[in-house]
Amino acid sequence: MYFVALSQGVGARFAKLREPVLEALATKPIPLLALSCVLVALLSIFWVLRTWRKETTLVKPSPKSYPPLPKDAYDVCIVGAGPAGSVTAYFCARAGLRVLLLEKKKFPRQKICGDAVCTLAQDIMERMESATGKGSVLDEILREGKGHPASNGGLVSPAGYSYIGNSVGEGDSGKLARSAVIAIKRIVLDEKLARSAAYAGANLLEEVSVESARFDTGKALWSISGERTGSAPEEASYQARVLVCADGAPSRLAMQLGIVKEAPQGTCSRAYVKAGSHNYAADGTVIYNLNLLPGYMAIFREVNDELNYCCYIIPGNPRVRNDDLSRLHHGFVKEDFYLSRALGPRAELEPMKAGSLRLGGVPRSYADNLLIVGDAAGFIDPLTGEGIHHAMDSGVMAAEVLKEAFKHSDLSARFLSNYQRRWMRAFGYDFKASMRLAQILYRFPILLDAATLCIEKQGDEFLAEWARIMTGQRPKSQLFRPYIMFAMAKELILLVILRTLGLERKPIDDVRKHQ
Ligand SMILES: Cc1cc2nc3c(=O)[nH]c(=O)nc-3n(C[C@H](O)[C@H](O)[C@H](O)COP(=O)(O)OP(=O)(O)OC[C@H]3O[C@@H](n4cnc5c(N)ncnc54)[C@H](O)[C@@H]3O)c2cc1C
Repeated sequence: MYFVALSQGVGARFAKLREPVLEALATKPIPLLALSCVLVALLSIFWVLRTWRKETTLVKPSPKSYPPLPKDAYDVCIVGAGPAGSVTAYFCARAGLRVLLLEKKKFPRQKICGDAVCTLAQDIMERMESATGKGSVLDEILREGKGHPASNGGLVSPAGYSYIGNSVGEGDSGKLARSAVIAIKRIVLDEKLARSAAYAGANLLEEVSVESARFDTGKALWSISGERTGSAPEEASYQARVLVCADGAPSRLAMQLGIVKEAPQGTCSRAYVKAGSHNYAADGTVIYNLNLLPGYMAIFREVNDELNYCCYIIPGNPRVRNDDLSRLHHGFVKEDFYLSRALGPRAELEPMKAGSLRLGGVPRSYADNLLIVGDAAGFIDPLTGEGIHHAMDSGVMAAEVLKEAFKHSDLSARFLSNYQRRWMRAFGYDFKASMRLAQILYRFPILLDAATLCIEKQGDEFLAEWARIMTGQRPKSQLFRPYIMFAMAKELILLVILRTLGLERKPIDDVRKHQ
């Protein structure tokens, strides 16, 4: 009865309010509408900030007591010595932890990749001491002439507009400008990183393929089993307090453990093009073809004039499926106006190879005594398909969180969730922006045409800024800075008018200009 009376009272009060509200709506609709918009905007901002705070505020440790570690067990066992695993191993070892790094292949080994190493990865390589003890990993690679810094590159839009210029730019004031990308073959890069981790103190075991891992809650210990795949195959098993899954995009171990549940969403091809057999003069070009959007093609110059040609299938286009990769990769070589001319009729391409792309970050990258890093956790940018720098960055963050976790004796999922909070803050939200941008660009390819025309008008510094945003040096939100937004909006309006009137410049002439 009480509730009935209460609801009737509330109902009567609302009924009293109804009249004046309806009257105000009839007499002053615009101020009321504006007020509602402001209210909705404020509520949305409040909701976004609340979610952001909840997802990124670090939790405090609450120390636990763990049984003593068996003599031959490790603090941390990392499965996979790609960039993510090796960087995690390096910084964990430097933090004084006992580290085991297991790799199923033997170095030097191939990894199918575009080999474009972005600035953030270059920064981390500068912090890592090379295995020879003579400077950083990056210095050593450049000293040995095994990396090609890109200084001259650009993009081709879906309609065929193109701009190739100096993509380095002047840099931030007071800082030396640097290449947004250095092409380093993964056969070189991955071995340097793994050896550097071993030099820092990690026990690197090659040709050990991990098959399963089991966690004993009572002992707080992982048992990791696998097989030595060398000349005399045999079973192998190891024990560690923490397991780090760094086994790449298929993420087999984390899927087996039930933490990662989805298959990788995208795929990408790669073919090296023999030096001297092509016509390409620049260092790197991203080619947006209407039939591939939101994916794209890329050509990068490696050392000694060899090229790396990749074709990225990024989800979002219902007409392009991962199974189409071979058809598209080979078709574009012959049919894409820009690519076919850049390669030329004598280009000698190696047979196509392909790898999967796990994009945008997994919903959960931690559990009790466990972290997932790099591609295994889906740290590939959903707009650009690039992930080496995020793999390495996640390795640094994982090592920092583990250092704290061991220091405070708290390896619980609750405390290790700080890892997820940190990567969400560093690049997780940027991935969300990338996902939306990929959708927008697929639906409105004219935006890429306008962006290219805008870069052409504004020149090299604008191109360098675009490159910084696309290579993760700056967040995608920087695209909405007024000077970029207004310049692009102006170009877009002009293009829409010219296109409607049939007065648009022929983009094909544009491409010829850069041959
Ligand atoms: C075709 C293609 C082109 C790309 N181009 C670029 C690019 O130009 N720039 C860029 O930044 N990113 C690019 N990417 C993405 C980039 O390759 C990845 O983001 C990066 O390799 C992630 O590093 P990782 O260490 O997480 O994984 P990986 O590099 O995949 O390393 C995983 C390691 O784990 C090992 N492993 C796997 N299973 C086991 C097991 N059971 N036991 C032991 N070891 C195991 C593997 O042998 C491997 O060494 C590209 C990807 C593809 C497929």
